[in-house]
Amino acid sequence: MHSTSPAPRHRDGTPTPTRRTRRSLQVTPGSVSRLLRCGQSGRCRDCGNPIEWYHRSDQRLVRLHPHELPAAQVPDACRWHVSSGVAHPAGDGSSWCRLAHAVLCPARDTPPPSQLAGLRRSLGVHSRRLIDAGVFTPPPASPPRRAPEPVVCRPARPIVQMLYVRYLSARPVDEIQCVAQTRHRHRCTSPLLTSGIPGGTWMLMPTAESGQLALPTDVMAVYNLSRLPYAEQLRWRAQRCRQHAASSTAADLAVAEWEPFDPLRHHQHIHTRLPGAGRRPGAAGRARQGAQP
Ligand SMILES: [Zn+2]
Ligand SMILES: [Zn+2]
Repeated sequence: MHSTSPAPRHRDGTPTPTRRTRRSLQVTPGSVSRLLRCGQSGRCRDCGNPIEWYHRSDQRLVRLHPHELPAAQVPDACRWHVSSGVAHPAGDGSSWCRLAHAVLCPARDTPPPSQLAGLRRSLGVHSRRLIDAGVFTPPPASPPRRAPEPVVCRPARPIVQMLYVRYLSARPVDEIQCVAQTRHRHRCTSPLLTSGIPGGTWMLMPTAESGQLALPTDVMAVYNLSRLPYAEQLRWRAQRCRQHAASSTAADLAVAEWEPFDPLRHHQHIHTRLPGAGRRPGAAGRARQGAQP
């Protein structure tokens, strides 16, 4: 019998995290994008923190946080791995993974998953130090820019299905706001999705009707409201909170923001994974009931 040496442990017996040496990435000979194949270092222009650029398998670029993290600290839906110099939006089954900088960027308003809040805070502190030292100047706040890459964990513009039609939402599902006018002549601030009442279900659904178009992906994540009662679907499409759905006297102060979804025009909003869903085989097609976006 031959036993291997035990993993290093703290005095209380918990395993000590050991930094894995970073895999050396190879430049593909003859590649037209030699630099990008090995992860080109740079700095986020919004926060000044280091990033690494990688190609994805579809040739789009993604900015990754330059260090590997213990996979246990990163939600499934946020994991990336790099294989042969190409970044893939999933873990590789090992106990380490990469992470998109967009999830962590302290210059963004979208908060990261709670497990990553500490890391984002430390990037925020680093960003502040760079600004104070005059090493980094953040870009002017306006005009608002479109995010070049989606935050994987939470679609900024989700695809929503109701009343047999798919729409592209203008904002994340939990930020869709009632359009009715209150008695004080302000726009109602209530969200459509409130706790305690059933919402939609995130599902992977066919990207296009069969035979319609040749699209790069077969399935996409859809926030499906089809299982809600007809009146609830009407309420969502009218973009009214529960209180104002019941009131016929309140006028609309804004136009409902639903845009009919077109898989070709809106292809950049197509996500092939369920927000926050597992990556285990068989996860595709399973839906999370009542999932929060
Ligand atoms: Zn950043
Ligand atoms: Zn309202």
